[in-house]
Amino acid sequence: MDAVNSDASKLWSDACSVIRAKIPERVFAQWFEGIIPIRMDKKKIILGVSDDYFEQWLGLNYSDVIADGLLEAAGKPIKFELEPGHQAEIAAIRAESASEPEAEAAPAPCFEEEDLQKEENAAADPGCAPNCLASYTFDNFIVGEENRYAYSAALTAAQEPGKFNPLYIYGSTGMGKTHLLQAVANFVHRRNPKAIVRYITCEAFLNSYLDSLRTHSTFKSHFEFRNHFREVDVLLVDDVHQLGGKDQIQEEFFNTFNTLYNAGKQIILTSDKQPSEIRGLEGRLVSRFESGVTTQITSPTTFETRLSILQYEQKDQLIKLPPDVIHYVAERISSSIRTLKGALMRLVAYSSMLGRAVPMAEAEGILSDMLDKEAETRKVTVDRIQQVVAEQFQLRVSDLTGNKRPKNIAEPRMMAMYFAREMTELSLMDIGNAFGGRNHATVLHAVAQVKKLSESSDDFRRNLSTLKRKIQG
Ligand code: ADP
Ligand code: MG
Repeated sequence: MDAVNSDASKLWSDACSVIRAKIPERVFAQWFEGIIPIRMDKKKIILGVSDDYFEQWLGLNYSDVIADGLLEAAGKPIKFELEPGHQAEIAAIRAESASEPEAEAAPAPCFEEEDLQKEENAAADPGCAPNCLASYTFDNFIVGEENRYAYSAALTAAQEPGKFNPLYIYGSTGMGKTHLLQAVANFVHRRNPKAIVRYITCEAFLNSYLDSLRTHSTFKSHFEFRNHFREVDVLLVDDVHQLGGKDQIQEEFFNTFNTLYNAGKQIILTSDKQPSEIRGLEGRLVSRFESGVTTQITSPTTFETRLSILQYEQKDQLIKLPPDVIHYVAERISSSIRTLKGALMRLVAYSSMLGRAVPMAEAEGILSDMLDKEAETRKVTVDRIQQVVAEQFQLRVSDLTGNKRPKNIAEPRMMAMYFAREMTELSLMDIGNAFGGRNHATVLHAVAQVKKLSESSDDFRRNLSTLKRKIQG
């Protein structure tokens, strides 16, 4: 940890001792253990919190307590700023402090500036790999249909480095990519603390690279930068979609990749899309990235996965929510695991504020904006319905909206209209318009026909539900 970060840690730890003496322990545990010192910035301390909600709530309710705590600890007024987006580190610290109830202060996260002292630091801490969170392990990664393959590929890469090379994991934000990547780092590190495991975000790689070109760099030379990333046993690079459009760094990355690949060293990459979909990524990198094992993590589609994640999270939380509320969250929030945890965190925070568990009747109101966003991400459009139906029956969308009436077109068209009626809020007239200006009676007729067919034919009904799932994505 550098001097600035350790200043922040010391100051915050002193301020916490002051604060702790002034407020009930339960409130301290719920709110202040959820704050971590990030850095000193001129005369200000930056404190990390999980999300915007926490930031606002703390700002409104406890800013004076924080300011007083800092004042007493430092002997002079110190400004502070709450910085959301540190949920993962906070979760890690809470998990650790829950398992060590005697610990006086919350342990610092295993998070340090990337520098050349890393190996020494790493050796001193058998628990987690440099730059990684100790709590990101395979053990606390909940496996479901959505991430099973990614999980086992990552585990294999950790157990037998070089076997799946490169391993490329993609999926949208909040799906657990970083968690898996750091789980590999921690696994390899714990098994063999001498192994050089480097986890880095693509952005940090880019910054280090630019830094290495400067005269007063962390690295004594550009050559040293190169070795830093090329003399490793396992290289884990998070969010490689950020390479897109950055030609100079792509060249550097390509060479790093080849050196490691040729030496049989394990490389794992994550991204929000498949290699071929990353705009501005050189063809040679696309083909390198695709040359090993590529696996996707999708949103937590099954209720069981979402429920297990919530139950797992609750294990270490001081405030337990009623089971029906947990079920409600698992049922309603499915866009990402990060959002799911955010919803849980909010309900726990509310319970703490109210001094009692949030009952079912209030949960919906508390989560209303999150539920709206969920509905938005799940919103089905007529365009989507037409695309999916056309694709399924190997037609063009224009066949569905056109005038031709052969059976191979008429039936899919009726199905598409039926879905538009069932899955969107559009009026019969709007649906008719979206299907080439048909009138509302035609739409009603189509809906009735589809219902009739699904009652009389099991096959038809099965096809209908398969299609519906595809439309829902
Ligand atoms: P990504 O890198 O895909 O954006 P993260 O790895 O940062 O997502 O995950 C977001 C949060 O969700 C983290 O707190 C992480 O621990 C948690 N998480 C994601 N997937 C799982 C899982 N399968 N089991 C438990 N926690 C998970
Ligand atoms: Mg990530």
